[in-house]
Amino acid sequence: MIQNNRLSTEQYEQNFADIHPPFETKEAALVAANKCLFCYDAPCTKSCPTGINVPKFIKQITTENIKGSAHTIFSSNIMGAGCSKVCPVEKLCEGSCVYNLMHEEPIQIARLQRYSTEKAMAQNWQLFERKPSVGKKVAIVGAGPAGLSCAHTLSREGVYVTIYEKEAKGGGLMTYGIAAYKVTPEFCEAEVDYITAIGGIDIKYNHALGKDVTLEQLQQNYDAVYLAFGVGLARQLAIPGEALTGVVDAISFIYDLRTNHFSSIPVGDRVAVIGMGMTAIDAATQAKRLGAKEVTLVYRRTQEEMPCTEHELNIAKLDGCNVIWLAAPTEIIGKEGKVTHLVCDTMQLGEPDASGRRSPVSTGTTITLEVDMVIKAAGQMPFEHLVKSEKLHHLYGKLTVTNKTQTNYPGVFAGGDCVNGGKEVVDAVQAGKDGASAILQYLMP
Ligand SMILES: Cc1cc2nc3c(=O)[nH]c(=O)nc-3n(C[C@H](O)[C@H](O)[C@H](O)COP(=O)(O)OP(=O)(O)OC[C@H]3O[C@@H](n4cnc5c(N)ncnc54)[C@H](O)[C@@H]3O)c2cc1C
Repeated sequence: MIQNNRLSTEQYEQNFADIHPPFETKEAALVAANKCLFCYDAPCTKSCPTGINVPKFIKQITTENIKGSAHTIFSSNIMGAGCSKVCPVEKLCEGSCVYNLMHEEPIQIARLQRYSTEKAMAQNWQLFERKPSVGKKVAIVGAGPAGLSCAHTLSREGVYVTIYEKEAKGGGLMTYGIAAYKVTPEFCEAEVDYITAIGGIDIKYNHALGKDVTLEQLQQNYDAVYLAFGVGLARQLAIPGEALTGVVDAISFIYDLRTNHFSSIPVGDRVAVIGMGMTAIDAATQAKRLGAKEVTLVYRRTQEEMPCTEHELNIAKLDGCNVIWLAAPTEIIGKEGKVTHLVCDTMQLGEPDASGRRSPVSTGTTITLEVDMVIKAAGQMPFEHLVKSEKLHHLYGKLTVTNKTQTNYPGVFAGGDCVNGGKEVVDAVQAGKDGASAILQYLMP
């Protein structure tokens, strides 16, 4: 049965508590910081898409220069606080820490980054000054990580920025997509406020490109435009039974969870989650934490090919989620309009496909799972309709750009998920920086 209000307030609080709690004391942070070897070639910095000078900010913590440490982080990544909570550090900075080579725990880079940046936000240290106006104005579409990072970089250089955002809040998927046990909506709001406190950035909420404003109007009214509207639509499975009650897409499921109280979110007794990316893991773990009795992740390939990291898979397993490898959904069966079963072909791996991963091939046998809810997390699709109607060059809806950021219109730049098809927050932040430097070059050659 699908129902809400399955747990007590305390249970919800416990289940959605911070998955990576901060250091409890200054001493704990100092001990962790002093473990750093300050490698001369800093593999941690090289593996950070925004190139944060990790040894430097950690050294600054050891000398209790927290303001300096936060400045080092924010200079490279204005969403350094959010990234310290959501980055898959096991495959980025911490994954490349030399301690791994010695089979020891890596430096707790994310936690140390959080230590400095949260203090900066809590104390409202304004570490950057806006240069005098250069008399230019830029429109940005989307107040997600790419848009905000671009806006901050431009504002620092004295450019006026107006962000057009279709939702009622900023932060993009940080606010509406990422798992609730990684970041809270309150934190996301505080982060947007902290970034925009530099001044010169106006966010027009509830303003959507393609509905409330056109690209042509933006081109006419601004000196340049930066498109950072992400990818937002859930991919359909295109199998029978998809319209049954109880079939939801992971993006909408998580959006609801991020915008409403946990107790109001309905979840099934037996939930199947289709996919094995970060979104699938987040949907599965959160369904379990909302009180679902049984959650099963269904993936058509094997663990070798899964898009999520080992660390994320372990979170789902520790939450008690089951995994069925080599199973591809072919039909959702229902009774009286409601989901009752999920039928899957069992698969085996064949030749590598375009992505280089071995492609799954049906063995001709099926398995049937008894479920009352199916969450589809088989990837996101770009806003193809919007992109086509604005006559932007694209590949299946993903914007095509030259020089990392230039669209087919002069003065119109783009970056983040709408260009890369969906990566991580930290990649979007870097894209925003790249977009800003291209815009500055365009405006003031
Ligand atoms: C479920 C889920 C979980 C994730 N978990 C993680 C994680 O744990 N860690 C991590 O690093 N990354 C995670 N990601 C990926 C990460 O959230 C994105 O890569 C990142 O947010 C991309 O930033 P962006 O600014 O390009 O796009 P977005 O964050 O999508 O921001 C785009 C903004 O544009 C707005 N917009 C869209 N269309 C229009 C329009 N027509 N007009 C005006 N505004 C518009 C949107 O409302 C949004 O605010 C996750 C993604 C998903 C879907």
